[in-house]
Amino acid sequence: MRETVMMADLSWTRFAEKVSENVTVFIPVGATEQHGPHMGLGVDVIIPTAICEGVARNINGLVAPAIPYGYKSQPRSGGGQTFPGTVSLELHTLTLVVRDVIIGLGRSGIRRIVIACGHFENVWPCIEAIDLALRDLLRDGIDGMTVLRLEYWDHVRRETHDRLFPEGFPGTELEHAALLETSMILKLRPDIVDMSKVPSDGPAQFPAYDRYPKVAGYLPPSGVLAPADRATAGQGQWLLDDHIEQVTKAVREGFAE
Ligand code: ZN
Ligand code: MN
Repeated sequence: MRETVMMADLSWTRFAEKVSENVTVFIPVGATEQHGPHMGLGVDVIIPTAICEGVARNINGLVAPAIPYGYKSQPRSGGGQTFPGTVSLELHTLTLVVRDVIIGLGRSGIRRIVIACGHFENVWPCIEAIDLALRDLLRDGIDGMTVLRLEYWDHVRRETHDRLFPEGFPGTELEHAALLETSMILKLRPDIVDMSKVPSDGPAQFPAYDRYPKVAGYLPPSGVLAPADRATAGQGQWLLDDHIEQVTKAVREGFAE
């Protein structure tokens, strides 16, 4: 039997042994958010959790339970807050949740943490959470904590993007519920994808600014911001292999003494 890398599956005594080995703990920070009519709401949790699991196996790490809600969905990166099923936290709430998890792990003796966002909008609340947690841990006399923050989508080989987008990469933000996420979910959770429901009302054409209150008209009604019709599990495998390999490299480098 291959030993689990999921923290929630360990007893506290086994976890304590892992702490004494200076294990690295990954915290996937996801969202519950519409991903088009063709996929389930948990995409932004499933993908970073799977990548963290792969990396944790490579480096003797553990994956903490993912945070299943994210910061408010924005029209230009996630379709916005108006879709039924998109359930988000206020920026302040998410910041404090992530801060508290880092502090809890620090009090348990963990000294290496990787925050892995699976949802574009989570990046700044996570940055704030790390800052607050490191400050509070130091005030409590706990030092030596190192945190890496990374987004899996930055860790991919150029050749893989060229193979997937022969006409040019549209950019990470517009990739919401599109080719990349759909391909990886086809690989990881084919049971929550229905390719017969992939919409053709995109791609989104946003201006290079945000207006408040939001105006209708830029967003495809399906919530899918770029084409997903060419998605396949095979391409999902290329992406997952790349992400796991490249994030492994980044984490080894980030924690090098
Ligand atoms: Zn997503
Ligand atoms: Mn998202």
